[in-house]
Amino acid sequence: MTKTLICIECREAVDAGVEACPSCRQKTFAYVDQWDDANSVCDELLLTAALVRAGFRQGELSLIPVAGAETEKTLAACVQ
Ligand SMILES: [Zn+2]
Repeated sequence: MTKTLICIECREAVDAGVEACPSCRQKTFAYVDQWDDANSVCDELLLTAALVRAGFRQGELSLIPVAGAETEKTLAACVQ
């Protein structure tokens, strides 16, 4: 399974291990499966993060279709 690391803000692919996005300097990245649409994955992450910040509990949200450990980590970073 091939995964691509992308910047969640500008949706650019970045190299694993970079500290900040070369394009927009943001530091939140998400792993996206080759066949996933990067835009919808990032949009759902950002929307879920916004809802969690607004007081929804993550367990009650089913926006992210494939919530793996990496997605959970990205979401946690977005919520901060
Ligand atoms: Zn970026």
